[in-house]
Amino acid sequence: MIKLFTSENRLKVWQIKEMLEEAGIPCFIKNEYAIGGAGEIAPFDAWPEVWLTDDEWLNRAEKMVAELEVDDAKPSWVCKECGERNEGTFAICWRCN
Ligand SMILES: [Zn+2]
Repeated sequence: MIKLFTSENRLKVWQIKEMLEEAGIPCFIKNEYAIGGAGEIAPFDAWPEVWLTDDEWLNRAEKMVAELEVDDAKPSWVCKECGERNEGTFAICWRCN
């Protein structure tokens, strides 16, 4: 087993887990319920973590996480033709193309 990813953003951790599962990569979440019971441990230790069951998948899984981060970094944009707001991941307007 090996730790792939951790974030204070629980949604992000789940997003990554679901992405890996869709790709057939065995994984699980640790510290899922740690928040609230953190007590004596540092907050960082209580972040939810995505773990791979099998180290063999690490390279592939890291690439997928990196691609996800790139997508998230793209700003949304507004179409000049119809004024519709598009996600940064869309190259063309989803409404009018
Ligand atoms: Zn448009």
